[in-house]
Amino acid sequence: MTETNIAENFKIVRQQINEAEKKCGRKEGSVKLCAVSKFHPVEEIEEALKCSQILFGENRVQEAYSKFSALKEKGFNNLQLHLIGALQSNKVKKACEISCAIESVDRESLLPEIEKHCSFFNKTMEVFFELHTGEDSKSGFKSEDEILFCAEKIASGKFPHVNLTGLMTMAPFTEDEALIRKSFSSLRNLKEKLNVSFPQLPVKELSMGMSGDFKIAIEEGSTIVRIGTSLFGRRDYSGTENQGVNA
Ligand SMILES: *Cc1c(COP(=O)(O)O)cnc(C)c1O
Repeated sequence: MTETNIAENFKIVRQQINEAEKKCGRKEGSVKLCAVSKFHPVEEIEEALKCSQILFGENRVQEAYSKFSALKEKGFNNLQLHLIGALQSNKVKKACEISCAIESVDRESLLPEIEKHCSFFNKTMEVFFELHTGEDSKSGFKSEDEILFCAEKIASGKFPHVNLTGLMTMAPFTEDEALIRKSFSSLRNLKEKLNVSFPQLPVKELSMGMSGDFKIAIEEGSTIVRIGTSLFGRRDYSGTENQGVNA
């Protein structure tokens, strides 16, 4: 993808986000754009930086680590990196070092790991619980009860370097708008439940909406849309075994 295309794509997508906000009566700027740069090289991320983009999403720890340490060495220090892919336990340390948020927390056992490493790095991690709402994706907590259970652990003060700031989901890949909407509204309902049960926890973000469904997500209350393809073009998966879903 050429430079001009990336700049043009950012303009178009930001405009579409603004229009979607307006259309459903939400305040302009209430939805953040997370630019998903997975499988795209550092040079293309730099094009995005020229468009004043600072929030990025990556789904594989090793790839994110090499690309974003290179950018930091080049002096780009105000970048915000969110990890959005399934996280293996042996990669938590690197994940904690490189990112400011892990959106794909999908099991209780990650919490003590994140706590341990963030305590070592002397930083607080923003954690999102990922809820499985789409038939196609395998990632995420399978039930709301597990999420409520984990939220209670955090609320008890066991993990002082873990800040539960939001929830994340991927809607099913379908043309059926009702199904997509249902996935997003179930995430919003869960957030409301958490806000009632644990008012002391700062659960405010709803990370939902991708290139194909972000307008619906914004109507359903999304505060962060994670967009890759519409900004950077199609990803080249050749030479990899998976479809880019694992951290
Ligand atoms: C790849 C990915 C995205 C971006 O998807 P696009 O359809 O390219 O916009 C968003 N969220 C997650 C979790 C992803 O893995």
